[in-house]
Amino acid sequence: MNAIPRQKPIFRFAPSPNGPLHLGHALSAILNHDMAKQAGGRFLVRIEDIDQARCTPEFEAGIFADLAWLGLTWEEPVRRQSDHFRAYQSALQSLIERDLVYPAFLTRGEVKARVATGETSDRPWPRDPDGTPLYPPDDRARSNEERKRLLDAGLKHAWRLDMDKAIAEAGGPLHWRETGDGETGDIPADPAAWGDVVLSRSDAPSSYHLSVVVDDAAQRVTHVVRGLDLFHATSIHRLLQTLLDLPQPLYHHHRLILGEDGKKLSKSLGDTGIAEWRRQGWSPAELRRRIGL
Ligand code: GLU
Repeated sequence: MNAIPRQKPIFRFAPSPNGPLHLGHALSAILNHDMAKQAGGRFLVRIEDIDQARCTPEFEAGIFADLAWLGLTWEEPVRRQSDHFRAYQSALQSLIERDLVYPAFLTRGEVKARVATGETSDRPWPRDPDGTPLYPPDDRARSNEERKRLLDAGLKHAWRLDMDKAIAEAGGPLHWRETGDGETGDIPADPAAWGDVVLSRSDAPSSYHLSVVVDDAAQRVTHVVRGLDLFHATSIHRLLQTLLDLPQPLYHHHRLILGEDGKKLSKSLGDTGIAEWRRQGWSPAELRRRIGL
């Protein structure tokens, strides 16, 4: 009998160059790197720069400088999402053709107003696991004729997943294998909790959710190691993987490094970056110790 060829484990660290890396990113990068080495696998870095308005080459250069200072090595060339918009577009197109997404025309302001008028003190508007109000049903309810008319008129729109249809199409309960610092084992996915998630916007050709599943498959990633803040988003990723017939990696969502205020560190809020700790004289070993490694 022929042995089934076993794929080498592939891990990836996937930062967005929209700010300096902080200690939470250091934990993620080091865990990915060390777990890859332990498993005799490969360690990739992927630059998640679909948000071209906020990502800059300077932040990207800073990421590589920080990772090198941490003593990590990764494979070249690095995949950059802005080089692959066509791949995300073609995944979206296949969902459009299967009628699993719809054009969404409401502006941010209109959504806010709909939520404000639709919500009462005893009946709050439903919110997703991150606390964002679910997208109102208005656009989902439009007829195909009306959609066509609005699209032909050149109205700005996003594309949103029709969550009910998508779940029905997936044809049965979805799960993922989890080995991280929260709940572990066979985790039931609950994509419905997210409502009609956005897959592309008028100002960005792909969303995080769509590009992450396309990229993980394109790079044959076997182990997704990332912060617990993305634990629930995995439900959406499992659904998209199923709809797009992509392989499912194993997941490991690690603890978050919290700031002094007990809140999760965030690049955009300007929490102290790795580069700043470097300037203050920390060594890479000291940094590892401070983040509990
Ligand atoms: N780009 C995401 C971030 O910087 C990480 C995405 C992922 O690891 O799936 O938070």
